[in-house]
Amino acid sequence: HAKESGRGQTSAYCLELDLERENMADAERRLKAAIGNDEIGVVFQPLTAAASGKIIGVEALARWSPPTGPVSPEVFIPLAERSGLIDQLSHKVFQTALQAVRDWPELDLSLNVSPLQLCNPNFADEIKHLLTSQNFDPHRLILEVTEGVFISKPDRAQRSITALHAIGVRFAMDDFGTGHASIGTLRQFGFDKVKIDRSLISGGNDAILRATIQLAAALDIPVTAEGIETDEQAHFARDAGCELLQGYLIGKPMSLAMLKERLEPPPPAVKRA
Ligand code: C2E
Ligand code: MG
Ligand code: MG
Ligand code: MG
Repeated sequence: HAKESGRGQTSAYCLELDLERENMADAERRLKAAIGNDEIGVVFQPLTAAASGKIIGVEALARWSPPTGPVSPEVFIPLAERSGLIDQLSHKVFQTALQAVRDWPELDLSLNVSPLQLCNPNFADEIKHLLTSQNFDPHRLILEVTEGVFISKPDRAQRSITALHAIGVRFAMDDFGTGHASIGTLRQFGFDKVKIDRSLISGGNDAILRATIQLAAALDIPVTAEGIETDEQAHFARDAGCELLQGYLIGKPMSLAMLKERLEPPPPAVKRA
């Protein structure tokens, strides 16, 4: 794994190697320092309405780029979870993201929540506090959760969801179609949205993809297709009933400055007299 994802990035390679060698202490120390030194950044990936192509929201994705080369969230998020740093890390990510899009009232913001966090009894209060302190409308916030937690600690997860639903926060099940989450899980926890995993989008099995989208549609749960890379995939997803599209075709995760350019195109070159 380290070989694949650390290509040409000496330090990232070492960090992943450390993890593989179970030299956790060193990797943890570095991550902890990075959180303290504000080395954790956030990028934004647009979500568009399938019908109009209009950007209606953005997903915030955490980035860690030490001078020696970026480390993938697929590596540092699990590390943060295992080492008890996930709350600290998320707090920074959430705060940065809320602040960044606060002044675009027409944009929804999606944040990724680690299943561990959702089971933390303080989670709902922490989100409420962040929303209040950032003066952010809860109806604009969508929390994306993967399914793992629903099997291990369903009661705790349910409590967090219920408390946040009460103030208008919505929940999306992320990476749907990859694991054990069923249509029953979606209904039981009251998910507002479903994101079909990109492995299904690119997997080439149209029947399975269409059936998965129809499952959610049968529950009146709007579907987002993630990982859209080609026009063909976009057309298929739209025809199959996806409400929102996300993927490299529409836009890669980008800096706040690039997002601003995307949302506010530069004024026309020709000035009026
Ligand atoms: P995710 O939430 O399912 O995010 C989608 C991932 O797919 C992102 O990878 C994104 O960059 C990538 N992606 C988007 N469109 C395309 C596409 O068209 N093609 C391909 N090949 N990839 C695409 P990223 O940023 O590396 O994040 C990986 C995962 O790490 C996320 O999956 C999410 O589960 C987790 N993650 C990222 N940021 C956070 C965070 O702040 N907190 C938590 N708890 N998890 C996070
Ligand atoms: Mg996500
Ligand atoms: Mg996903
Ligand atoms: Mg994912």
